[in-house]
Amino acid sequence: MPKIYIIDVTNRDGVQTAKLGLSKLEKTMINLYLSEMGVFQSEFGFPTTRHETNYLRANLRLAELGVISPLRLEGWLRAISSDVELGFKMVPGLKHVNLSISTSRQMIDGKFKGKKSRRDIINEMTAAVDTAYRLGAETVGVNAEDASRTDIDYLIEYGQAAKAHGAVRLRYCDTLGYDDPFSIYEAGQVLAKGVALPIELHCHGDLGMAVANSVAGARGVIDGGQDAYINTTLNGIGERAGNADLVATVLALTKSKSFAGKYELGQPIDLTKSWKIAKFASYAFGVPIPINQPGVGANAFAHESGIHADGVLKDPHNYELYGFEELGRGDPEMVETGREICAGEYSGISGFSHIMGERMSWHFKDKEEAQEILELVRYANVLSHKPLVEDELLFIARYPHTAKRLLTMTPLGSAEPDPILGTDSRL
Ligand SMILES: [Zn+2]
Repeated sequence: MPKIYIIDVTNRDGVQTAKLGLSKLEKTMINLYLSEMGVFQSEFGFPTTRHETNYLRANLRLAELGVISPLRLEGWLRAISSDVELGFKMVPGLKHVNLSISTSRQMIDGKFKGKKSRRDIINEMTAAVDTAYRLGAETVGVNAEDASRTDIDYLIEYGQAAKAHGAVRLRYCDTLGYDDPFSIYEAGQVLAKGVALPIELHCHGDLGMAVANSVAGARGVIDGGQDAYINTTLNGIGERAGNADLVATVLALTKSKSFAGKYELGQPIDLTKSWKIAKFASYAFGVPIPINQPGVGANAFAHESGIHADGVLKDPHNYELYGFEELGRGDPEMVETGREICAGEYSGISGFSHIMGERMSWHFKDKEEAQEILELVRYANVLSHKPLVEDELLFIARYPHTAKRLLTMTPLGSAEPDPILGTDSRL
């Protein structure tokens, strides 16, 4: 039976969300955590956006070193040949891309104002796919923006054209969150059969159904005989009402009544990393996790009423569908209530060495090395406007040259290998 894979788009849809953003170090940490968790692919950014260049190149280098592995890093580009050319020029090591163009009548007419026909859209997309492969892409996925408001026969034609040019997947974007589980099941199945390619489901929560639509769409795709790829984000952060939440989606796929034990993930997801990754995303975005968030909310395993508390104490299965340990919860979290030494943009060497040594057992070779790492930590702090978490401090200490690139927005402007990035190796 075909399988279900997860493509997380936090570092693309999440960061393009109004009023929210992440530093390049935070985006890197998310890629590392997604990789640890077993997520198939991260849509890690925008190859034509200049302030992303160093981050994208640094993360590809981390993938080369095996630091970010087995996660695939994939860039999002408009399905326009000139954008694809620019993207590959700015980020030469790019291997995986998704190319996006609008397919609905509303958007073709409403955005291109009569300048493009449906045929033009397909021609532009296939030319962009050809360009990506010519420039060294290993896999190209094509996105149909506003697919849920696109006539299905045209979507099939679009998908077939993409397939004829070597695209490996078609992304069905429910850009406005217009679908419901019934309509997206149907669309997924029809597309899987009609295009005969794996289908990605990209769902938004404008009607509160992003997770439900994702799993229903995936089921349609599998019943249509193809692998399904669900797009998720951490804590559901994404445009407007957000995207399908990663943890909730995996819970739905593995625990729900008609999925558990029947539909399979293409690669196992380690849900015990959920707590850590959700907390980090919340901290990095500066957006609290709702207390009723599935799995990771403060109330997800809280019981007060007499009947529930009594029932769960007698047997947790009375009132809990899954255990908190499965989400990586249950360990006490240390909150300093006495003296605290923090690392920030005005930190000095003594306090910093104390934090690294006492708290994290990290010892520097000499004073110069400690000073050099501290300087990077200060800059990272200036960019994130909040104290770095321990994993960020350790990342900087382990990969100082990569960190230095992440903290610099000015692109090198050259396709030559980066002389600084080349000097970090896997520890
Ligand atoms: Zn989206």
